[in-house]
Amino acid sequence: MRRIAIVGAGQSGLQLALGLLARGYHVTLTSNRSAEEIRQGRVTSSQCMFDAALQTERDLGINFWEESCPPVEGIGLAVPHPEKPGQRLFGWSARLENVAQSVDQRLKMPYWIEEVERRGGEVHLQDVGVPELERLAASHDLVLLAAGKGEIVNLFTRDAERSRFSQPQRALALTYVTGMTPMAPYSRVAFNLIPGVGEYFVFPALTLSGPCEIMVFEGIPGGPMDCWQGVNSPEQHLEKSLEIVNRHLPWEAERCRNLALTDDKGFLSGRFAPTIRRPVLTLPSGRRVFGMGDAVVVNDPITGQGSNNAAKCSKVYLDAILARGGQAFTPDWMNATFERFWNYARHVVAWTNTMLLPPPAHLLKLLATAGQSPELASILANGFDDPRRFEPWWFDVDQCEALIERTLPMAA
Ligand SMILES: Cc1cc2nc3c(=O)[nH]c(=O)nc-3n(C[C@H](O)[C@H](O)[C@H](O)COP(=O)(O)OP(=O)(O)OC[C@H]3O[C@@H](n4cnc5c(N)ncnc54)[C@H](O)[C@@H]3O)c2cc1C
Repeated sequence: MRRIAIVGAGQSGLQLALGLLARGYHVTLTSNRSAEEIRQGRVTSSQCMFDAALQTERDLGINFWEESCPPVEGIGLAVPHPEKPGQRLFGWSARLENVAQSVDQRLKMPYWIEEVERRGGEVHLQDVGVPELERLAASHDLVLLAAGKGEIVNLFTRDAERSRFSQPQRALALTYVTGMTPMAPYSRVAFNLIPGVGEYFVFPALTLSGPCEIMVFEGIPGGPMDCWQGVNSPEQHLEKSLEIVNRHLPWEAERCRNLALTDDKGFLSGRFAPTIRRPVLTLPSGRRVFGMGDAVVVNDPITGQGSNNAAKCSKVYLDAILARGGQAFTPDWMNATFERFWNYARHVVAWTNTMLLPPPAHLLKLLATAGQSPELASILANGFDDPRRFEPWWFDVDQCEALIERTLPMAA
């Protein structure tokens, strides 16, 4: 039986562990937080996942919250008018072809850890460093490092060519709430782009206590939404969230008259630089460790792609491990497997990175035109499921113009 070690109990590592166990592999999973610690801890993400990523979970029979999680049925965009306070410059929304869902990682990951144990995996609780990686590498056929944004992932070399940024591009915050007025006639990721300030988006999710809404704040560094320093208590965090919405987005403030935090761990703030890393780490012994998920491709959450990428990475790696049969997991195999994932992820990264920079004129026109073209709005909304669909027109002025012309008559 082939022995695979996975370090990190997040979307990518746990999904791979469960996939391997189903195929008869021996899996050792090491996490620096127990299931109970994750369950009792702080929220970590807004983790909205679209259909193709959800399908990778369904394929493994690990979609345990499909029935209980409120669906995200569409995506909408609004931009406040720069000169007319309280009014929109433009706005639109479109239904997703298939719903998205967000299950609080405090609910999902502990259950998946326990599922790894139920399916015969070995689970260890340890903050893994180089000595532990050495031990795992000596006793397993393959070691995967799926430690997300943990300090240890800095052992992988940053890929300067593929990393567009070296600094955080947004000051991030999350607020999990109940009591928000639902969007009608269908639920959605309500995305608001406030020029010069940042972005605010909000959507339904499932948390420990049941359905909720997750408010996500993406403040441009140094701007008015980069305002979380000194905001420490749950009460202060909720107050600051409301202050931002009241100040910039009256139509969202309308929905927030009766908000309460889901729980006193239902908030988060922080920042990190989007980074691509080389996927193969050579330990002092010469043994190798293979990186996956956020450990090697970490995006800003502005486009909500990290968990989607982690799930898709897990699928690519699972297929490659199975296809490898009894052959050695060489560095060449690791690099080739990562490139297969990167061949998808590079499109996500390129698209996400454009959202972090001031939008060029053709994109502003595209986004505004979607307000008059349901067809274009639908194309934009459904691209979130597979951002390769944004090419080539997202990046090419002429192709963008052609798309606008092709879809505009439909508005009539
Ligand atoms: C504010 C915010 C909002 C987001 N919103 C979305 C969204 O809407 N949609 C979306 O798709 N993505 C979103 N993401 C991104 C998404 O949460 C991540 O991309 C995804 O969780 C990555 O999965 P992963 O398995 O690679 O890492 P993680 O989920 O981070 O898991 C890594 C695990 O490794 C453990 N670990 C770390 N170091 C060690 C160590 N030394 N030893 C042992 N264990 C270790 C950690 O405790 C953790 O459990 C968001 C992220 C943030 C910060």
